[in-house]
Amino acid sequence: MRSLVLVLGDQLTHGSPAFDGFDPRRDRILMIEAPGEATHVWSHKARIALFLSAMRHFAAELRERGLPVDHVRLGDGEAPGLGERLRVALVRLAPERLIVVEPGEWRVLATVQDAARAAHVPLEIRADSHFLCPREAFERWARGKRTLVMEPFYRLMRRRTGVLMQGGAPAGGAWNFDRANRAAFGRSGPGAVPEPPRFAPDATTRETLAEVDARFARHPGSLASFAWPVTRADALAALAAFVRDRLPGFGRVQDAMWTGMPFGWHSALSAALNLKLLDPREVIAAAEAAWREGRVPIASAEGFVRQVLGWREFIRGVYWLDMPGLAEANHYGHTAPLPAWYWTGKTRMRCMRETIGQTLEHGYAHHIQRLMVTGNFALTAGIAPRQVADWYLAVYVDAVEWAELPNTVGMALHANGGRFTTKPYAASGAYVKRMSNYCQGCAYRPEVRHGPGACPLTTLYWDFLDRNEASLAANTRTALAIRSLARLDGRERRAIRAEAGRMRAALDRL
Ligand SMILES: Cc1cc2nc3c(=O)[nH]c(=O)nc-3n(C[C@H](O)[C@H](O)[C@H](O)COP(=O)(O)OP(=O)(O)OC[C@H]3O[C@@H](n4cnc5c(N)ncnc54)[C@H](O)[C@@H]3O)c2cc1C
Ligand code: SF4
Repeated sequence: MRSLVLVLGDQLTHGSPAFDGFDPRRDRILMIEAPGEATHVWSHKARIALFLSAMRHFAAELRERGLPVDHVRLGDGEAPGLGERLRVALVRLAPERLIVVEPGEWRVLATVQDAARAAHVPLEIRADSHFLCPREAFERWARGKRTLVMEPFYRLMRRRTGVLMQGGAPAGGAWNFDRANRAAFGRSGPGAVPEPPRFAPDATTRETLAEVDARFARHPGSLASFAWPVTRADALAALAAFVRDRLPGFGRVQDAMWTGMPFGWHSALSAALNLKLLDPREVIAAAEAAWREGRVPIASAEGFVRQVLGWREFIRGVYWLDMPGLAEANHYGHTAPLPAWYWTGKTRMRCMRETIGQTLEHGYAHHIQRLMVTGNFALTAGIAPRQVADWYLAVYVDAVEWAELPNTVGMALHANGGRFTTKPYAASGAYVKRMSNYCQGCAYRPEVRHGPGACPLTTLYWDFLDRNEASLAANTRTALAIRSLARLDGRERRAIRAEAGRMRAALDRL
């Protein structure tokens, strides 16, 4: 055999550079299902099932195209780890070289390199053409910058790609419609929001779901409502439905939350993008075309394009730039263990119950739920960043480390000391009250800082300000909050500290 082409579980694209020069008579494709990838973090059943089902469909499509595929299944062999399975396959197949597209995760890259070395097979790593900004281009842009700001990167990407540009100027006359995109739903609620399409499991998915349920029975989450796109055809249908049904309403209420409404106007396309069933270029082009044809307002099109062309590319660049140190970052020295209810949703805090509940049901929560509910709590309660990151990597169907880690460590926890955020995203219960209906019917009261009914988010927020007063006062974006803190008298501050101490000593009971 000349080349063995390794296709990883998040590289499911037929146009992959891995297949450049592929000769079916001399080369072979290798796909490996490794139980260790499901237990490396305690993965949600839906996350495991989605990866496996998508891989199985992709392997079948490759075979239909007449390409030879060696598919190591979950139950094959003894070794659970990807590295060991790869090494065994390399010894068995004895190729002249192993080809792989840049893995999306630092650990997986090292695993592949180690396995190739151990089997004495030369390794060729090909650049990942899925992203619009190659790693080297991001490194060049970031060179010499101590802090990285998304906005100028995004504008550069808009200029470079011509997306949402009109004669050298941003479409609609502004780069950014963020101000228009922070509305809540208001008292009457969100009204009728179209749901993302559901893809009924076919025979392959049903078999996968049964296998995952049996093999990973004790893992978190449910498979009962599994309806994610698992093929490119499904993913394209999901994209078309989003642009038609939800993109028009996406922008304005992008940050809003409501009980029983897991997806809001969001696209729910992250998993299909991260598995590479969708190309970000086609996703961006679909949103732009909808605006050009007058089907969606500019604030919605721009708000969405900013996520895919801006944040997604930026986050990936930061990951590769700052790894491996990023995984160990702990700016505030936080060490508290993750409360057990993160895995069950069994807490009296309604905002957490809702967000974690839908996470366990669907493997999905939208950005503000991740950032300002579960992330905000973890930051202000002082949970160890490593434990928080492992949780986010485990429970979302779109979780891949290059996307998850910078978002968790950098954005939600400010654990890298503000490398790419200008302030920690700490907020009290007042934010949750403003942006959702979660506080109605909660056991706690968002405006109460200490004493009976004190909202943990509120108490822990003021305590976080108190504990970090000096550094937050020196930051122009948090100085106002510190001025509010300074207006509290000594007795009030001591009461908050005491309440926060009691809460932190019994996080599991909140
Ligand atoms: C703590 C935390 C952990 C996260 N972990 C992940 C993760 O493991 N995988 C992941 O894809 N996203 C992650 N995100 C980013 C974001 O929350 C999700 O991409 C988004 O919620 C997915 O839902 P959607 O497809 O409906 O997104 P939409 O709101 O519809 O946005 C459109 C697309 O933009 C991209 N996008 C938006 N925001 C971001 C962002 N901050 N970083 C990267 N891409 C972005 C996604 O591909 C998304 O599908 C995380 C955010 C936080 C705060
Ligand atoms: S009162 Fe506090 S804990 Fe309860 S839902 Fe509101 S913010 Fe969350």
